Amino acid sequence: MALLPKLQSRGIRLAAVLTLLVAVAVLCALFIQLIASYQSEKNSLTDTTLTLNYSNANKIAGTIDSLFTSMRSSLKATAEHVSETDAFDAGDIQRELELIRVTSRYFNSLSWVDETGYVHNIAPLSVGLKGKTIKSGLTKVAIDLRRPYSSEPYIAPSGRLIVLLSEPLYNRAGEYRGILAGSIYLQESNILYEILGNNVVDETGSYFYVTGPDGRILYHPDHTRIGDNSDANPVVHRLREGLNGKQQVTNTVDTPMLAAYVSVHQNRWGVVQQTPVEAVHDRLAANLRRQVLYMLAPFLLLLLIVVFIARKLAQPFVSLADTVKRMSEGTYTPIAHTKPHWNREAELLTKTVIFAMEEMRKNNKQLILEASTDPLTGLMNRRTMTDIMDGWFEARMRFAIVILDIDYFKSVNDTFGHQAGDEVLRSLARTLNHSVRRNDLCCRYGGEEFVLLFPGLRADEAFAQAERIRRKVERMSAPIGRSVTVSMGVAEYPSHADTMETLIELADRALYQAKQNGRNQTVLASSRDTGEPDME
Ligand code: GH3
Ligand code: MG
Ligand code: MG
Repeated sequence: MALLPKLQSRGIRLAAVLTLLVAVAVLCALFIQLIASYQSEKNSLTDTTLTLNYSNANKIAGTIDSLFTSMRSSLKATAEHVSETDAFDAGDIQRELELIRVTSRYFNSLSWVDETGYVHNIAPLSVGLKGKTIKSGLTKVAIDLRRPYSSEPYIAPSGRLIVLLSEPLYNRAGEYRGILAGSIYLQESNILYEILGNNVVDETGSYFYVTGPDGRILYHPDHTRIGDNSDANPVVHRLREGLNGKQQVTNTVDTPMLAAYVSVHQNRWGVVQQTPVEAVHDRLAANLRRQVLYMLAPFLLLLLIVVFIARKLAQPFVSLADTVKRMSEGTYTPIAHTKPHWNREAELLTKTVIFAMEEMRKNNKQLILEASTDPLTGLMNRRTMTDIMDGWFEARMRFAIVILDIDYFKSVNDTFGHQAGDEVLRSLARTLNHSVRRNDLCCRYGGEEFVLLFPGLRADEAFAQAERIRRKVERMSAPIGRSVTVSMGVAEYPSHADTMETLIELADRALYQAKQNGRNQTVLASSRDTGEPDME
């Protein structure tokens, strides 16, 4: 019999809830940590990239600066040397210019143009200007200036991008003899081009470019962009103002860049070293992937530990829940002994539930006992008896019933009192209980009437048993100091009746007959055909 109503066990398991909770908490922590580290790495990587770019731009600007210083000194030294020669001999000067051009490789061409614009010498001769007179252009500006001069990069009639450097020439007499001019073809073979013209985009996507004072691009890994005006780029704009710095910028072709810019003191050129922001993002993503990979193994290990602890923690609750469930299903068996649990609440709850269930079980047992027995005699009561007989009828099992009634019991009560009467009833119950076989049943049917059930016995066998018991009762001395006698009616299923009512009725009728016949005797019910009890 179930102690509890049948319970539906829906809902999520405790261990699963705990595991899920910790897993979510750990995942959230990991996520937050990843975001934080991503942010800090992003800032640091951006800073590092900008700093590196700045240092590189600074180096390139320094190189350009010292190259121009060297070019100017070389030009100046040559001019001084020429000035010291007496006759300004065209042959000597030509040889000297050729020598300087080839050995220094600073200039693509070197020339002596006198104060009238006449080109006395030019190395190499292949330029084809020797003997011509220059009347206009920057060369004319340089001649008229009579001071050292550096031009901005400009596009010559030949289509070349050129920078012109010049030094004034004076003879010993101090007369002005024109200029010594050095031309640098920015896009052709010379030292400058070797340093700046062959720059490439490295594996991180970083590269540099060089701008002129007007914002025109002079050197760029993408050669098609040389000559473009990049003034729209804020970085180039700052360079034109002679500023240095580093910042994130979107360039003229709409690519976000981490750019560092340094202007060249000598010639107001600018160097921009830059890295696409995307390259930084790619590195960050790679770092993030690596971090996730590193975290995966410890995370899984942590999860396993958590599952283990969660199961341990949940175990007493799980076993309690199982016990309660079994109880509700009626398959409960008492918990013999449980190991004490390290968790205080779990231990307390387990003990309390076990105690409560044991109490409930005992109470239930007691209730069942009380509901099925007669309180005065302790024998089975009438209801339990009919339940058992129902089962036997259902199973079509042969059995015999004996209804027993104390003779003249009223007079026992009247003579000795009700208490004594009760004692007699108890004593008779004990006698009956001791007199029947192990499988036979004794029951108080009501008042001073009892029923004996003999499973498997035929009517005559039951009759013999009844007689044996009647004689035993007759011989025994009851608590009132003398014996009491009983009368009995016997009937058998299935030979006498096939329903409980008929069977009881027949046995009752036989009892009545026994009373009629003078009491202290047993009467066997007659078969259903005759309706008359068989007398003994
Ligand atoms: P008979 O031989 O015809 O059976 O005579 P009787 O006196 O036994 O018959 P009756 O049925 O008239 O009396 C039964 C008496 O049993 C009446 C009642 O007071 C008494 N009795 C019934 N139950 C109890 C009980 O629990 N305790 C006591 N002390 N007496 C009971
Ligand atoms: Mg009676
Ligand atoms: Mg009686």
